[in-house]
Amino acid sequence: MSIIYLASQNKHKVHEIQAILGKTFNIRPCDELAPGISWDETGSTFRDNALIKAQAVLARGAHTVISDDSGLEVASLHGAPGVYSARYAGPNADDEANNLKLLRDINHLPEDQLQARFVCVICFLQEGASPVFFEGHCDGHLVKKTVGLKGFGYDPLFIPTAYHETFAELGDDIKNQISHRARALIQFKEHLTREF
Ligand code: IMP
Repeated sequence: MSIIYLASQNKHKVHEIQAILGKTFNIRPCDELAPGISWDETGSTFRDNALIKAQAVLARGAHTVISDDSGLEVASLHGAPGVYSARYAGPNADDEANNLKLLRDINHLPEDQLQARFVCVICFLQEGASPVFFEGHCDGHLVKKTVGLKGFGYDPLFIPTAYHETFAELGDDIKNQISHRARALIQFKEHLTREF
């Protein structure tokens, strides 16, 4: 079974990615290989940041790495919060603070200008090879108050296209079928199946 190190401190992601990829691949958290590893997400695109994370893990001795970077883009805010999604309200902002800032920023917008999308870029990096990227989107629109308790991040403010409830109401079963991350991961799985 091939080991792929995931450049993330988030244990939830290890399980999510393992579940989608199935048993042929063994996804391991990067701190198992490189305890205390960290990186600065200084990129200006999701791709740049995904590559920064993957390169950091490769530099610590991994042969095969997967990383992801994701966020929310609001068209009327020129793509913000974008790569700053995790720290939209400030360097140590939590989900609640980020959601409050977003609510303030969209408060003046008419209902037909609340289109938004989640974006996820996955980077697959192997020693001695060029990085390969996979991008998934989930289109939808924002609501002007938080609704629902499930999920994380901007889930309580986002209604995916063709649904009437926020991600925070819909929950993981539906979210994992249509999310930006699931869509990028399915492309990644197809790539692995073709190449290995
Ligand atoms: P990361 O790429 O996992 O570090 O995510 C960056 C930030 O984007 C998170 O802190 C969230 O604010 C936001 N984000 C990414 N994916 C989701 C999602 O599926 N739901 C809600 N927020 C998300």
